[in-house]
Amino acid sequence: MRILVTGGAGFVGSHLCERLLSEGHDVICLDNFFTGNKNNIIHLMDSHRFELVRHDITEPILLEVERIYNLACPASPVHYQYNPVKTIKTSVMGSINMLGMAKRVKARILQASTSEVYGDPHVHPQTEDYWGNVNPIGIRSCYDEGKRVAETLMMDYHRQSSVDIRIVRIFNTYGPRMAENDGRVVSNFILQALRNEDITVYGDGSQTRSFCYVSDLVDGMIRMMECDGFTGPVNLGNPVENSILEFAEKIITITGSQSKIIFQPLPQDDPKQRQPNISLAGGKLDWKPLVTLDDGLKMTVAYFSGLHRKG
Ligand code: NAD
Ligand code: UDP
Repeated sequence: MRILVTGGAGFVGSHLCERLLSEGHDVICLDNFFTGNKNNIIHLMDSHRFELVRHDITEPILLEVERIYNLACPASPVHYQYNPVKTIKTSVMGSINMLGMAKRVKARILQASTSEVYGDPHVHPQTEDYWGNVNPIGIRSCYDEGKRVAETLMMDYHRQSSVDIRIVRIFNTYGPRMAENDGRVVSNFILQALRNEDITVYGDGSQTRSFCYVSDLVDGMIRMMECDGFTGPVNLGNPVENSILEFAEKIITITGSQSKIIFQPLPQDDPKQRQPNISLAGGKLDWKPLVTLDDGLKMTVAYFSGLHRKG
């Protein structure tokens, strides 16, 4: 198949492009390089089945493809809050452009949504039928509400124009090629530990997250794209939940670092707990994560150590 991956030069997108190429598909990677990086995909450039297009999905584009994975959107709070108007435009206008393309060429389209649609959840663990608790006017809303509108657009194009859609709600994912400067907890803590700097826990560290290794996520996304008769939304994440303080301690142990933990103010609207219920993905896609947090973190630490050594 010919497959378009928007945001293909980003962290998740680059792993997805790699996996789709290895399965024999033709891959068009589309990216505006806001948070993505050519280094993430340089190893794919030699393949005659790989094409790179520099483009911004808030502008229309004409391509002929059979599948569209719509991942373009900055994902870390630091990046998506840098230009919040652009962030919400990317989710809203970008999704309209990609849905228009899917409708025109009768492609199947998968939207990368997020656990952030649940906001600061009152239902724990989060199930797909929970509508969420999102602040519509807060500093995270350009991302959360943008993704909620993207889901709405997917469902409306499906109901109104029979576009073949899939929606995945991705929970915190980590692995090699996360951007060093993206401010997310995994990259921050690993880099701080490798440099023996203080580890910055925001708040008292009792808030929780559940971390999924990137290969497991990519496997779930492809299963969802290729399954029959199920639009989702479906949660994709690893249900093993950790407090951020426990997570900091784990990183210190794995890296053997001399770092000390320090506490800094909790950012506004920071969700207190997050854990996916993945029964739906288990039943419909026969999917579950396979990589343990310890194994995934060791591979991620190895990646960041390489960057660290290069200086
Ligand atoms: P990332 O920032 O590494 O990748 C996003 C990519 O999209 C980058 O390459 C960036 O340059 C590109 N991009 C941004 N705006 C664009 C635009 N207007 N036009 C074209 N390209 C654009 O982030 P990621 O972690 O790889 O996330 C990928 C997708 O998965 C995002 O949609 C994100 O919302 C979603 N997601 C990720 C996580 C996670 O933990 N990584 C969790 C939930 C959802
Ligand atoms: N966090 C932290 N220290 C950091 C970066 C993040 O304690 O240096 C916390 C953050 O406040 C949040 C959690 O870690 O509670 C996950 O943050 P991240 O930005 O990785 O993702 P998100 O909040 O979008 O889940």
